Amino acid sequence: MQPLDRSTIWPYRDGEPGEFYYQRYAHPTGVEAERALGELEGGEALLFPSGSAAITALVLAELAPGQTIALADGGYYGTSLLFRSLEGWGVRFVEFDQTGAPPAGADLVWLEAPSNPFLTMPDLEAAAAHPGRVVVDSTAATPVYLRPLEHGADYALHSATKYLGGHHDLLLGAVVCRHAEAAARLREFRGRTGIVATPDSAWLLLRSLKTLRSRVERQTATAAELAERLGAHPAIQKVRYPGFGGMLSASIP
Ligand SMILES: *Cc1c(COP(=O)(O)O)cnc(C)c1O
Repeated sequence: MQPLDRSTIWPYRDGEPGEFYYQRYAHPTGVEAERALGELEGGEALLFPSGSAAITALVLAELAPGQTIALADGGYYGTSLLFRSLEGWGVRFVEFDQTGAPPAGADLVWLEAPSNPFLTMPDLEAAAAHPGRVVVDSTAATPVYLRPLEHGADYALHSATKYLGGHHDLLLGAVVCRHAEAAARLREFRGRTGIVATPDSAWLLLRSLKTLRSRVERQTATAAELAERLGAHPAIQKVRYPGFGGMLSASIP
């Protein structure tokens, strides 16, 4: 493990700032964790203090008042609550069924893979064919099971509090960008607004990523076994399990 560096400032050299000069703009532990996550997702990763902070920063950096988000319905409740709050800033959202094509006219298409709790998978091909930019909240899939940027998404988003962190000891979010210009825009917005993850959380993420694959594969084995047993149980009407990952849900009659 690389050492945790909690410095808030670094000295200028010959009157010029180096790669690191003030923690709000960048810090070595964060850059290292972003490099590791970026490699897993095949894009440029940026860390945020929570998944919700990542969503907020991405929406405020990418959209202007009057623009519209098409949000996958049946997804994480906190995302729709957050978009409702952002309506006060003129950002509108409509909900749609992510197993089909997104509605025309949306500026940003917001998918969830798989959606929590209904566990549908988005039609990534239909979303990629839409003229709007595409975000995939890939928290539950993790890069072990899905790399959204390879399917035409512009952004993969994570609540790293969940599977990426996986140890019940860090609150963290991430946006992984397909395009370098988009990453630069978001990085500048992040530095100005101060929606920045701490070195401590970044260090804990680095620790967690080393065991990501073995953790989620074990969780998949357990969830698949539970899905099978519940599916055979007479008191259960329907089991939803996308075939990978640690989440499943069941209905009773
Ligand atoms: C938890 C979660 C979020 C929000 O992330 P926080 O780290 O709790 O802010 C967003 N999307 C999904 C799918 C989540 O499960």
